Amino acid sequence: MNIILFGPPGCGKGTQAKNLVADRGWVQLSTGDMLRAAIASGSELGERVKAIVDGGNLVPDEIVIELIEERLPEAEAAGGAIFDGFPRTVAQAEALDAALAKRGSKVDAVIRLLVDEKELVARMEKRAAEEGRADDNIDAFKVRLKAYQDQTAPLLPFYADQGKLKEVEGMGSMEDVAARISAALDEK
Ligand code: ADP
Repeated sequence: MNIILFGPPGCGKGTQAKNLVADRGWVQLSTGDMLRAAIASGSELGERVKAIVDGGNLVPDEIVIELIEERLPEAEAAGGAIFDGFPRTVAQAEALDAALAKRGSKVDAVIRLLVDEKELVARMEKRAAEEGRADDNIDAFKVRLKAYQDQTAPLLPFYADQGKLKEVEGMGSMEDVAARISAALDEK
């Protein structure tokens, strides 16, 4: 099964993706994690994207599409992919559909996590204190939120029109949210 965890920065996509990995044995494909790994390794790609990621802007579509395509065979072997932070633009969503179609596969469901903005800011500040991510500061966060609203939210009608969108309440404990996601995935 291929599922997309969808929602604004700080809505809990990464946390819930890890939970699904443990629960169902699927592979988490987080473009944010891949980009941070590239930056940490000091690779040429990392150097190209560092300022963009640190500032909270979206990196060019072709970069993240390539990162994702490289990992599709691994996810297929595991029986499923959990896309986390990808796709973030309509062009990325179309590229994902094409890449999966080439492999005789498709996006099965899009889980949208609903979290209010006050809670997003509170979570970002907590993560800033715990993990020290360069883009977890209020200025970069505002840019990330705006990128979500302008470039990523238009994907909601894209997937709703295909009947794939499922909305899940993302407030509450990690366990409660995980149970809601699981129920949404198991419903017909
Ligand atoms: P969050 O879930 O907090 O939004 P991510 O880890 O998903 O954070 O992404 C961190 C940053 O990495 C983004 O702000 C952006 O700069 C870059 N990034 C991650 N995924 C994508 C993507 N699919 N397209 C473009 N940029 C991306």
